[in-house]
Amino acid sequence: MNAQIISIGDEVVSGQCLDTNGAWIAAQLFAQGLRVTRHVTVGDDLGAIVGAVRDAMTDSHFIVVTGGLGPTPDDITRQAVADALGQPLEIHDAALTQVEDFFAKLQRTMPVSNRRQAMVPKTCEPVMNPRGTAPGLVCRRESTTLFVLPGVPAEMRTMFQGAVEPELAAFALDGAMTLTKSIHTFGMSEASMGEILSDLMAPGRPVSVGLTAADAVITVRLVTRAPIIGSAEAAIAKEACEIRRRLGAAVFGEGEDTLQHSVLELLTAKGITIATAESCTGGLIAKCLTDVPGSSTCFERGFITYSDQSKTDIFGVDASMIESHGAVSAEVAQAMAAGCRSAAGTDLGLAVTGIAGPTGGRAPDKPIGLVFVALADKSGEIVKKHLFGQHHPRSEIRIRACKSALNMGRLRLMGKI
Ligand code: ATP
Ligand code: MG
Repeated sequence: MNAQIISIGDEVVSGQCLDTNGAWIAAQLFAQGLRVTRHVTVGDDLGAIVGAVRDAMTDSHFIVVTGGLGPTPDDITRQAVADALGQPLEIHDAALTQVEDFFAKLQRTMPVSNRRQAMVPKTCEPVMNPRGTAPGLVCRRESTTLFVLPGVPAEMRTMFQGAVEPELAAFALDGAMTLTKSIHTFGMSEASMGEILSDLMAPGRPVSVGLTAADAVITVRLVTRAPIIGSAEAAIAKEACEIRRRLGAAVFGEGEDTLQHSVLELLTAKGITIATAESCTGGLIAKCLTDVPGSSTCFERGFITYSDQSKTDIFGVDASMIESHGAVSAEVAQAMAAGCRSAAGTDLGLAVTGIAGPTGGRAPDKPIGLVFVALADKSGEIVKKHLFGQHHPRSEIRIRACKSALNMGRLRLMGKI
């Protein structure tokens, strides 16, 4: 039972658009126990798409195609699927109604070109698209099921969950379920985690454990397969519990959790408020916190104090302190945290000042990647110096600075620092 994914679009083959659809679909198929054997990417070329679909149908039982269902002349996936199946394309009444309804709901006249989207190869069925105009397609043959979904990620995901997922169990390898869990950590190095978890990471264990790093977050990934969902869940829960015990406060969440979620959860539970004072992160911390719905109950305000003058004007940071220690210093970070807490009247003040590069950082004691993070609360201020490394680009230093600040808030709220 092999599965295959075909991603279509000139923007994907040319590298202008990363094939996140392929990765996402593969993860879903894998989680449901299908064996994904191949990803194919083809441009908007009729012959190439026809060839890819025909090839896939010779050796795969489950095929998901994404992209090229739009109304423009470069969207030729419908035609290619019809050609690969050797069938004519016909207007499908229910699909046409769906496309027309979409425009009617928006009180817009449907352009004639959108009628193309209601064309379906003779033996295929349309797959309804609740989020856009383009219906998908499904073709069920004796040995192969082929789904065709739009390229727009949000539309593709909704349709996958609604129409594709319910069919996957029939294609799972030996009926076994694959279950995965990811546990996110911050602040501990990958090497130390590898040492702490080395016995659990040994090959051949019923739950496989691996580490991945992205944007300074190190994630422990657990994967297990079992014929019964209950036993897989129990095995993975037991392993997760042991991993959490060993990694302690470095763990901030699982799955879709982020550091900002964790900070806001802690703030909400304690009923306390926070304000931010940002220099090199330029508002990134405030942005991350306000990305979380409901953050208004705890996040009071954020200041972007980029110039030296603004640090003095808004927080009353002594100009002579900036003069003698520099704007990127423990003293100024601390004064920013205290100043922002009192200016906003919040329980916590979180501040960042640093050198994100690529310019600056010429003084030997002030290299690019030097960042001070400070937190003020009723018991005073704490400050931490970070050296993120000169080799990182500006964007990454800013992300690391932001996450380090959020993590400082999290640990303080947990009583760990
Ligand atoms: P539309 O009706 O929007 O034209 P479509 O099915 O024709 O839908 P495409 O034109 O192929 O979709 O892609 C629309 C957009 O979706 C692309 O510009 C790109 O941003 C995104 N996209 C397409 N394919 C992928 C992919 N494989 N991974 C991630 N994003 C993609
Ligand atoms: Mg398109």
